Amino acid sequence: MRLRPHSLVVQSYRSPTFCHHCGEMLWGLVRQGLRCDGCGLDFHKRCAFLLPSNCSRARRQVSTSLSLFPPRRPRGHSLSHQAGGGSLEEISTTRPSSRPPSWAEPPVWLGVGGGVGGGVQVPHTFHIHSFTKPTVCRVCMRLLRGLFRQGLQCSDCRFNCHRRCEPQVPRACPGEKSHAHGEESSAAGHSGPPDPEDDEVISTPLVSDDDMSSDGDSPADTKEAEQGREPMSPCFSSNIPLMRLVQSLHHRKRRGGGGVLREGWLLHHTSTDAMRKRHYWILDRKCITLYPSESSTKYYKEIPLCEVLQVRGSAQLATPLAPGDHAHSFEVVTALLVYCVVAGEEGPAWEDAIHQGLMPVESRGGGGGGGSEEEEEAHSLCSRVFQDVSSVYQIFTDEVLGSGQFGVVYRGTHRKSGRPVAIKVIDKTRFPTKQETQLRNEVSILQNLSHNGVVVLERMFETVQYVFVVMEKLHGDMLEMILSNEKGRLPERNTRFLVVQILEALRYLHLKHIAHCDLKPENVLLASAEPLPQVKLCDFGYARLISEKSFRRTVVGTPAYLAPEVISSSGYNRSLDMWSVGVVMYVSLSGTFPFNEDEDIKQQITNASFMYPRQPWASVSLEAVSLINNLLRVSLRQRFSVGRALAHPWLQDFQLWCDLRAFEQRLGCRYLTHRGDEERWIRSARERGLDFPPHLLWEPDDDPDM
Ligand code: ADP
Ligand code: MG
Repeated sequence: MRLRPHSLVVQSYRSPTFCHHCGEMLWGLVRQGLRCDGCGLDFHKRCAFLLPSNCSRARRQVSTSLSLFPPRRPRGHSLSHQAGGGSLEEISTTRPSSRPPSWAEPPVWLGVGGGVGGGVQVPHTFHIHSFTKPTVCRVCMRLLRGLFRQGLQCSDCRFNCHRRCEPQVPRACPGEKSHAHGEESSAAGHSGPPDPEDDEVISTPLVSDDDMSSDGDSPADTKEAEQGREPMSPCFSSNIPLMRLVQSLHHRKRRGGGGVLREGWLLHHTSTDAMRKRHYWILDRKCITLYPSESSTKYYKEIPLCEVLQVRGSAQLATPLAPGDHAHSFEVVTALLVYCVVAGEEGPAWEDAIHQGLMPVESRGGGGGGGSEEEEEAHSLCSRVFQDVSSVYQIFTDEVLGSGQFGVVYRGTHRKSGRPVAIKVIDKTRFPTKQETQLRNEVSILQNLSHNGVVVLERMFETVQYVFVVMEKLHGDMLEMILSNEKGRLPERNTRFLVVQILEALRYLHLKHIAHCDLKPENVLLASAEPLPQVKLCDFGYARLISEKSFRRTVVGTPAYLAPEVISSSGYNRSLDMWSVGVVMYVSLSGTFPFNEDEDIKQQITNASFMYPRQPWASVSLEAVSLINNLLRVSLRQRFSVGRALAHPWLQDFQLWCDLRAFEQRLGCRYLTHRGDEERWIRSARERGLDFPPHLLWEPDDDPDM
């Protein structure tokens, strides 16, 4: 029996990929994990240190063929880094780490411990780094020369070296270090800020608020005096292409409680996702929990029994089971999904056990015994709320309008009126207790808002497990519009039209001292499929009340859109939203994130060292770039406010004014333009010899300005 350690290489993934060891997602935008060259499995770096030497060498081909993005053009330097596309399929078709490497193939062998014959060698995760102090290469011991981008640094252990020396660096990364080795990474001098790519930041996004002592400037202000930095223009963009960022949170649960009715490994798919997944199912008197392994406290999914409408056994299934095919043994039907379970011979026993779990307490036989009165009350309340929701609204569970870090949004209709609605279902059990109030906070903030640029909240229902947020239904989101454009980006005219509406909505929010804190194209809803549609902000999950002079420290938002002050924990206020407007403009006009994939993203954000590669920026106006530069300012004081952004020449555009007026007239409501500006636009059109369309002028039945 030969022990084979995994041969790990740093990998970038363009589609959601999960660690084969712990089952959790590989976080971040680039270089999220390590892939074994031998067996093709993917791991977190932190998990790589725990791997047994059990590489099967049976490399699977599925991964690269499923890549969402073609391989990037080759660069001048070669990092031990690959771009590829792991996929959900991979975790679902391979055994968890406690099992042999692949359940589809005969096991090769089982190794014990990673230390045999040197064990797993963990490579460094290098980024190009700009060193602010004289630093030597740890391979050749010579100075890393130059003003910036002098060499490579491992983002975990801060090992520094020349690009040319990189091939000689042994694969011996010791793992994460909290502080830099010799050279601190940020020019702004922040030490040990939470990494935007770090899953700790993402997994605890809503820790309790910590209002900083109000009065005074943000510390970020004193650290940075931006001196009109000239954007650099390399020819080719190595910026990360715009994509929908999938996020999920850790689901943890205490194990070992009594009352388990049945447990075991099962394979399932759902009515909305045909991909089969294998989990360790535990059924107790309250729910079915799906774990990635037999001992894990982290779980993949929880199905509360109060939501189970029916268990359909093999006798009731529409498709008869044929030997050898992938048909399932039984179905667990909930209001939102049908779980199709392959249980083989154990099917009938599982069916019985679930039926037993569904029975009222009195008739449940021995074993688990009865639950407390409180539990029963909660159970029946939960069932009642479910009935309430479905008596008022029909939820089309097969029509997902979108999903994000808090919930899944389904299409629905109001039963009586037939009015279309969007129903966001937030699974509270996915969030630690602290965050529950925050989940309600989204609703309480939305309840007090009324503006044409903010999604209308219709109703809210709540069970022990779920929050149902019923909203007006809109057509789609801005990210979809950008990604579906044939060029993968939007023209300036369209971007202007959207940005001005975002700013008007922010003006309204900021006047009420509310900061949205998670502004990104996914959270900008569009009312129609027109090229110049109405915009409404949604997703107030991170929104905060921040008074005039106070700052907050809690980590909020989405990593790729985080402002430097959030990363450095130096305190943010509503100007955080203005940074996000800058990123939204950048991604809309270019179709890429403002960062390149070679350098540490955290460093790029904290230094606001963004590039405008000639392609596509050569075709974008300098005014647009100027506004973005004024929004992507590290200094909160220098960063443009809503008022200053709206007054910027890029948004003082005659065509935009005409587009907005025409839109307001179609809508029959004036809230984006002001009557007082008409004179100015008439004069300006006359001076420039342009036709002024008279029908766009103010009409007496226009709504008053908001
Ligand atoms: P999360 O808090 O989980 O990010 P969001 O409220 O942002 O949830 O909704 C997730 C996605 O669902 C959005 O990005 C959007 O695509 C879609 N969506 C949300 N609300 C609506 C709505 N009212 N109408 C249509 N689509 C919506
Ligand atoms: Mg969202």
